Amino acid sequence: MDLGLSGRKAIVCASSKGLGRACAMSLAREGVAVTVNARTAETLEATAQEIRDETGATVTAVACDVTTPEGQDQLLSACPDPDILVNNAGGPPPGNFRDWSREDWMKGVTANMLTPIELMKATVDGMIERKFGRIVNITSGSTKSPIPELGMSNGARTGLAGFVAGLSRETVRHNVTINCLLPGPFVTDRLTGNMRFRAEKAGADYDAFFAKMAAQNPSGRFGQPEEFGDACAFLCSAQMGFVTGQHFLMDGGVFRGTF
Ligand code: NAP
Repeated sequence: MDLGLSGRKAIVCASSKGLGRACAMSLAREGVAVTVNARTAETLEATAQEIRDETGATVTAVACDVTTPEGQDQLLSACPDPDILVNNAGGPPPGNFRDWSREDWMKGVTANMLTPIELMKATVDGMIERKFGRIVNITSGSTKSPIPELGMSNGARTGLAGFVAGLSRETVRHNVTINCLLPGPFVTDRLTGNMRFRAEKAGADYDAFFAKMAAQNPSGRFGQPEEFGDACAFLCSAQMGFVTGQHFLMDGGVFRGTF
């Protein structure tokens, strides 16, 4: 299927690794010029070159912290009129909420709720004028089913979901959709870091714990970032103009609900 994206421009936040990188790669394969971002310039430049080599797409690398106003300005200067915005940032740390300060919460809420809202604010009206826009927020399965040790993720991301619920109904009339992609367990640095934390907490061997957790997923495995990236590209496609305000869970069937 031709996704109708050739010649479009995208900002993909937090995309030198993992799910963001996979989204940038899948969009670039569809002929989208992508602006990729991460804080670590070296890893980011390597990823940008890999995407160029594999897809031939135009790739602009912007090394900055997307959760700061300066970082957001840098991204928007590199790509002032994106057709596609993929919001993403590092997830908040696991732990016990009794140990978190107000400052810790402000960091989590800024990264996982306010930053996507600020980037939507900066881009959505241009998309409306141009009569095309696709915004995908990478959130988490934790917005549908809370994960006990990720209380900050559960809270901040659900706040974003509430905001998107309203805005997405106002923009769709102009062919601007806003949806969320909810990753369950995908094999990225973030997941292996979480597994290490949980294995240590359980006093278990890391490799054995990892294999056991993967086997417990109804699919018998963890997801691969490429699967996530392709779902993101499809959600951004020309064909998806009638789908907005939705939360697509990709978890191999972990969430046990009829809907
Ligand atoms: P990852 O493999 O650790 O990659 C994170 C990427 O984001 C890296 O490129 C990192 O580069 C960049 N990044 C982090 N903080 C940033 C910032 N402030 N500004 C700019 N770039 C930043 O993570 P992932 O697994 O792809 O996860 C992506 C998101 O999905 C996270 O919010 C995570 O919590 C959520 N999620 C993931 C899973 C999973 O199974 N993987 C499940 C549920 C939710 P630098 O460090 O160089 O900045």
